[in-house]
Amino acid sequence: MTTPEEQFDRLVLAAEPRPFWLDQPGAPPAREPLRGEAAADLVVIGGGFTGLWTALLAKESDPERSVVLAEGHRVGWAASGRNGGFCDASLTHGAANGRQRFPAEFATLQRLGAENLDAIQITLDRYGIDCKFERTGSIAVATEEYQIDGLRTTAEYGGATFLDAGAVRAEVNSPTYLAGAWDKQGVAMVQPALLA
Ligand SMILES: Cc1cc2nc3c(=O)[nH]c(=O)nc-3n(C[C@H](O)[C@H](O)[C@H](O)COP(=O)(O)OP(=O)(O)OC[C@H]3O[C@@H](n4cnc5c(N)ncnc54)[C@H](O)[C@@H]3O)c2cc1C
Repeated sequence: MTTPEEQFDRLVLAAEPRPFWLDQPGAPPAREPLRGEAAADLVVIGGGFTGLWTALLAKESDPERSVVLAEGHRVGWAASGRNGGFCDASLTHGAANGRQRFPAEFATLQRLGAENLDAIQITLDRYGIDCKFERTGSIAVATEEYQIDGLRTTAEYGGATFLDAGAVRAEVNSPTYLAGAWDKQGVAMVQPALLA
């Protein structure tokens, strides 16, 4: 029989630290490096989501404009290819935080965030980008008593459904969950490396 320490060694220490999303069969090879000189109307530095989306918007606003995107390593290798894959409409990291920090602008921020998520989905459809975009929704949970009020705020102002302990455990049966807020509309999951 193996001890817990041996199991830890076998399962954890033996694992190779490679980002899951990037470490897929069929991942494209890195593009050829740019050699020599290049000229363009616009040069975007950095091939993460910020640079990629900037380049896309620049071409959309003026298709005649020449755009070069310069990446120092390879496209999508950094934060954009190794994140959690949560594509969240909230621009304020949740309703409780947004209402506290931006009380006057909160409603506008919520509207813009919802429009932004819709626009991302429409753009993916328009370009046929298969990045496993799926409107899964998400459940935020409280594991401490003090977190429960924040979830009530999320439910009241962030378009989520409040779940008491019984209701949240009916969805995900953890004895540590005291409450939840289920946002069924405002969150999608993506495979971020495919998106990049
Ligand atoms: C562990 C983790 C989990 C996360 N989870 C989520 C999540 O679930 N949902 C979410 O929305 N966000 C999440 N994020 C945040 C999200 O991934 C980042 O906000 C986003 O990817 C940032 O994109 P970016 O293009 O600004 O930066 P990056 O993806 O880091 O890209 C920057 C690029 O610029 C290049 N570069 C920099 N300097 C130069 C230079 N001088 N010349 C050429 N190239 C250069 C780099 O090589 C890199 O490729 C997470 C982040 C991390 C680290």
